[in-house]
Amino acid sequence: MRYVSTRGQAPVLDFRAATLTGLAADGGLYLPEEWPRFSHDEIAALAGLSYPETAARVMLPFVGDALDHGELLALCEAAYGRFHHAAVTPLVQLDHDQWLLELFHGPTLAFKDVALQLLGLLFERFLGGTDKHLTIVGATSGDTGSAAIDAVAWRAGVDIFMLHPAGRVSEVQRRQMTTVLAPNVHNIAIGGDFDQAQALVKAMFADRTLADRYALSAVNSINWARLLAQVVYYFYAAVRLGAPGRSIAFSVPTGNFGDVFAGYVAARMGLPVAKLVVATNVNDILHRALSTGDYSRGTVQQTATPSMDIQVSSNFERLLFDLGGRDGAALAAQMARFEASGAMRLTNAQSQGAAGLLTSMRVEPDDMAVAMRRACEEAGQVIDPHTAIALAAARRLGGDAPVVTLATAHPAKFVDAVERATGVRPALPARVGDLFEREERFVTLPATLEAIGGYVAEHATPSA
Ligand SMILES: *Cc1c(COP(=O)(O)O)cnc(C)c1O
Repeated sequence: MRYVSTRGQAPVLDFRAATLTGLAADGGLYLPEEWPRFSHDEIAALAGLSYPETAARVMLPFVGDALDHGELLALCEAAYGRFHHAAVTPLVQLDHDQWLLELFHGPTLAFKDVALQLLGLLFERFLGGTDKHLTIVGATSGDTGSAAIDAVAWRAGVDIFMLHPAGRVSEVQRRQMTTVLAPNVHNIAIGGDFDQAQALVKAMFADRTLADRYALSAVNSINWARLLAQVVYYFYAAVRLGAPGRSIAFSVPTGNFGDVFAGYVAARMGLPVAKLVVATNVNDILHRALSTGDYSRGTVQQTATPSMDIQVSSNFERLLFDLGGRDGAALAAQMARFEASGAMRLTNAQSQGAAGLLTSMRVEPDDMAVAMRRACEEAGQVIDPHTAIALAAARRLGGDAPVVTLATAHPAKFVDAVERATGVRPALPARVGDLFEREERFVTLPATLEAIGGYVAEHATPSA
């Protein structure tokens, strides 16, 4: 399997190189050259498999000769052995056709663990036996940071620099990052919002001297391997609800478009997906883009769902590329327009291609609160605000297919918002332990490339 950049100018890579690279040298994102297809029978054969077995089966066509089935399965068993539920991503029924897919049973209580626990092991595996050193730089609106840090802390050959917008992540989220005192973990609070943090990370990648000297790599959802790991739970859930004999809809609380793009990949691979609901909060660039074709940046509003408080959705580019005939030059021009002016229009091919499978909805704060309250009162389920945005959208969908809402965070990560809506104050699971007693370590820097790049150069290890 070969990987190509959405902007058509970067070298074609194999799975190993695409995993270690992150952002492509031309500013694009890597995607497989073509989508592997699973037949009806191949999907039916997933029915009895455990989560790690499903993961190895679904991911195998993408890894080429980087790993054989046994090696991939062993990595999946190690990654998902750290989850605190035997099903890894269990389904919970809310009413006769509404379901939750709980993705938060990993070490840091958010769905990011599903991908990052595996990614940490892939990094270790692909760097093992070389003297290469990798420097991960990332930006987080909350959950990616802690999940990535947990996945690579104390691992040899890797340093991680994680930027978060100061004061704009929850205290639990911050402490989950800043109390990991491993010497290879570097937390940086920036004065700015998540989009600025993400732009700084992109600028570091674009600085080829810096990027090459320190072998910069990404763990945010621009990393292809991370998206790939998320494709798995769409198969796992759909098969349990009757696929391939029945189509299943999914509602996804969306920020950077990684999670929902993984659902798109599952559909392209042959999984019968009735609809993918792109659920946004009031930061609704994706809703505007998908419903009117207008992809234009607004200003970020802070909400009770910080992981969705973004106005530029990196992975949307992957969708536009795939729907737009995979024309790297045309996409590069389209993205250049967006980067220069903050706005561009989807082409007809892009809009019409999206319309078959994707539908978008913007959910207001009141509707989010109602969804939380209703899940609690009618089904005894305490859900987090992000999940509630998607559940509110799922209930508007209609149609015959069962709807699976992706439950992306444990409610205890967002206690205040949950308590306001439901009166219930969810407790942190015992495995998170003494988070509030532990020592924190982070630096605060201005949101400039000079400051952040300088800090990385001072503290990172050159690649070889
Ligand atoms: C990251 C995150 C999201 C958004 O996922 P994307 O892949 O960025 O669209 C939603 N909910 C929670 C809790 C998250 O951590």
